[in-house]
Amino acid sequence: MPHIWGVRTTWRTVGDGEFFCPGCGGDRSYLRRIGRHRFALLGIPLLPRGTAGTVVECAACRTCFRTDVLGHPTTTRFSAMLRDAVHTVALAVLAAGKEGIDGSGTALTIELHEVLDPLAPHLAPAGSEDILLQGARIALADGPYTPSEHRTLAAVGRALLLSHEDTERLLAIAARTPS
Ligand SMILES: [Zn+2]
Repeated sequence: MPHIWGVRTTWRTVGDGEFFCPGCGGDRSYLRRIGRHRFALLGIPLLPRGTAGTVVECAACRTCFRTDVLGHPTTTRFSAMLRDAVHTVALAVLAAGKEGIDGSGTALTIELHEVLDPLAPHLAPAGSEDILLQGARIALADGPYTPSEHRTLAAVGRALLLSHEDTERLLAIAARTPS
């Protein structure tokens, strides 16, 4: 027997898109849905009784998440961010090596931050270290770090949220390792 009076939650879809689903582990479509509680008579929703909040529902596994799940980049987006990061670091290091551009206060530093800041919180420490080391190897290709190359790599380390000590340690390791 259904309850004569009860509270039903009705869901309305207000948007969709692509996200990384932590439930089934991949890039999936999602529906953004707003729920409303309503008093119901014989299962028929009648009076509004407040909101049940907004959820993000995976189209594949149907798991619902809080909307902050959308803060994580999709795998596709993450790969693109990573490619941009490696490319921008390479350009910054090359510019520092060729023209002696100071990496600590230039447009390139701003560009480094634009590319690395959104990426850094989603990188595992090994991922951040790898990007720095790729930059270090480019700087070392034509001999030891110049002061401007070193400053640029230090700026890369800061943008990647590596500590000053870790950055210096990694740069020293790269300089000792024959490429
Ligand atoms: Zn899913």
